[in-house]
Amino acid sequence: MKIFNTFSRNIQELSPQNPPVVTFYACGPTVYDHTHLGHLRTFTNNDLLKRALTMLGYKIHHVMNITDVGHLTGDTDEGEDKLEKGALKAGKTVWEVADYYTKQFIFSLKELNIIESDELPKATDHIQDMITLIKKLEEKGFTYKTEEAIYFDISKFTDYGKLSGQKIEDKIQKSRDEVHIDSNKKHPADFALWFFTVGRFKDHVMRWDFGSAQGFPGWHIECSAMSMKYLGETIDIHAGGIDHIPVHHENEIAQSEAATGKPFVSIWFHSAFLNIEGQKMSKSLGNFYRIEDLQEKGVSPQALRYLYLQTHYRQPMNFTFEAAGAATSAFNNLKEMVLALKKQTQRTVLSTDKLGQLDEYRTQFLSALQNDLQIPQALAVMWSMLKSNIPSEDKYDLALEFDQVLGLGLATFEEETIPEEIVELAKKRLEARNEKEFEKSDELKKEILEKGYSIEDTSDSFIIKKK
Ligand code: AMP
Ligand code: ZN
Repeated sequence: MKIFNTFSRNIQELSPQNPPVVTFYACGPTVYDHTHLGHLRTFTNNDLLKRALTMLGYKIHHVMNITDVGHLTGDTDEGEDKLEKGALKAGKTVWEVADYYTKQFIFSLKELNIIESDELPKATDHIQDMITLIKKLEEKGFTYKTEEAIYFDISKFTDYGKLSGQKIEDKIQKSRDEVHIDSNKKHPADFALWFFTVGRFKDHVMRWDFGSAQGFPGWHIECSAMSMKYLGETIDIHAGGIDHIPVHHENEIAQSEAATGKPFVSIWFHSAFLNIEGQKMSKSLGNFYRIEDLQEKGVSPQALRYLYLQTHYRQPMNFTFEAAGAATSAFNNLKEMVLALKKQTQRTVLSTDKLGQLDEYRTQFLSALQNDLQIPQALAVMWSMLKSNIPSEDKYDLALEFDQVLGLGLATFEEETIPEEIVELAKKRLEARNEKEFEKSDELKKEILEKGYSIEDTSDSFIIKKK
């Protein structure tokens, strides 16, 4: 399997430390607001990678964290606490807010048929692991303390910036415009490992003991502490959105490698943004839609997943309702086709020619996956296979096999049962039509439409479909 590695800037062969196991850490959500379609694009891409690796024979050990301790509104150390801000807005406690949005997040993943991670650790359940790691960094001389916080001293980590390729001087340049609240911070890019509940944080609700003082962790330390705890000191693949490259992941590398002296990650897998009108869909910009918003407009979670499948994970994707509508039609066509195949259960003996064709489609599908997870290409192979002349039952079987990666739930497709009431209305309409009572027939058709079904006439009967 070849994957683009943000770190090497190359498409490279995955070579796990203990094959067939692949250790896979994904940065999870900060649960202070709704899960939106942007997050879900990244989590769907992670799911596709995981499913593809599984099809290729690997055993994935997947950990995803829940950031339920509110990191500050920017990626840097400034701003307000996101969870406290969210709690204030909702009139709830920080714990209630985190719990509510965690549940909503998990529900959204299920709706999209995203396979659960093996562990879903919460930051608040791992404060002691973070403290232990911070103490280790203190002992090794990578930190300094101010009244407000314990900082990681980036000048002590010579490789700082190696993931994004930023030079420290550029970081200084970029940060000059920022307001520095802690005047005792030595370098603008130094980042907090731990904040003390003093000064601007004196009323902070979430707080834990650290020695004789109280405080709360900085954001980045949780991912290092939890990934090491569950997956060991070096991880095969670490995933997240591209927004995490310059700060969060850079900081994760610095603190992890400083603590262990070992490489933190072999392959960095980053998903490009889901944009809307040219801007990143985000909580802070308030330009986001949720799964529920789409459902109200007739776009199902499966159709959304289909929409995601159409763009390669490294390409930015622009969200429009028009595109979501087109994905819905394509998904419905696929569903009809698969259901028609499911009905045709007559197994025929395959000629060597057709067997060869089956193998060819399988090979094309796998090589699309192996080539940096080319899911749009894999989806195209699925369509060519479905339109080919191989026997229906074999097409059906192969479609289900491909769907182990695509995750559209093809095996669960069922013929819609039409309610008796609608069938009765349709029968009455047919009678009216046969009696040439066209006004009555039109009224009945209207009633059927209003109840959410469409009716098509055939020469002597009708076909009812759910709209
Ligand atoms: P957050 O809760 O902001 O930390 O985001 C959780 C995950 O979703 C991270 O991996 C982000 O990079 C990713 N993410 C957030 N917004 C978008 C977006 N518009 N498009 C793609 N991924 C996103
Ligand atoms: Zn992280």
